[in-house]
Amino acid sequence: MEGNRDPGWLGRRAVLAGLAGVALTACAAETPQGSRPSVSSSPAPPSPSSSPSGPPPSPSVAPPPPAPSPAAPVLPNRDQIIAQFGARTPGYWGLEAPGVALRLPPGSQGIALTFDCCGGPGGEALDRPLIDALRTHQVPSTFFLNARWVHANPALAEELAADPLIEVANHGSQHLPLSMTGNTAYGLPGTRNSGEVYDEVMVNQELLLQLTGKPALWFRSGTAFLDDVSTEVVRALGLVPVNFSINGDAGATFPAQTVAQSVGSASAGDIVIAHANRPLGGTAAGVAAALPGMLVQGARFVRLSEAPPV
Ligand SMILES: [Zn+2]
Repeated sequence: MEGNRDPGWLGRRAVLAGLAGVALTACAAETPQGSRPSVSSSPAPPSPSSSPSGPPPSPSVAPPPPAPSPAAPVLPNRDQIIAQFGARTPGYWGLEAPGVALRLPPGSQGIALTFDCCGGPGGEALDRPLIDALRTHQVPSTFFLNARWVHANPALAEELAADPLIEVANHGSQHLPLSMTGNTAYGLPGTRNSGEVYDEVMVNQELLLQLTGKPALWFRSGTAFLDDVSTEVVRALGLVPVNFSINGDAGATFPAQTVAQSVGSASAGDIVIAHANRPLGGTAAGVAAALPGMLVQGARFVRLSEAPPV
């Protein structure tokens, strides 16, 4: 498995020193929201005149200084996470640890479709017909991107990040179950301690910050398994762990008809999980079959930030 020492990306320490500082770096290129910020080592100096034929700029009409942004939360660094959580013993292992959001908040009228892009062997594609179906019906959704998938598909990741229908969320760095003790899920060994939990969350968090220009708010571990202490670590790092109330495609193994039935059973408050990285599965056809009827019946689809899980 490819290492994750993020060559070429901003150093972990720099990011953790202050997300605001990184955001400033990301904003320096003045790229539109959603497009990948260019982190230039030598930003162009401000031009004395943006219009050679126009009048020279007057000092009296100099643009106002940028409005102060809200203070970025000070997040614990790796050492602090280890100091705070390293000696804790988890008491739960599975999909529904205390502190994991499984549904939208009570009273929510929306349905949140969430799609994982897991990366790794057999999982690095993009289900283009699924994207087409969502766009055809103008259905918003949340995409959980794993760092492996982003590295394999930089242009597609930029496309998703630039799509106003799509919210980008964090699906981990190496797609590991999130464990304090190396628990396994579906035969896949998880992280082994609080430091590895930190890395699994934050290496990809840095990558997505550079992709979208803003911190991801939601985290789902590889396999969606996690323990209760790891859940606390995720929250301490400023993200909400989000799993699901409806399994839409069982890891893209359901045939299309089953996907359509499962997704079509969603109602207000549900969070649906499916996959956008396995075009050979039945997910796209099933979702495409389910959406028209759901919309006719008044279903309202939301990105997670529109009905923030707590
Ligand atoms: Zn996954």
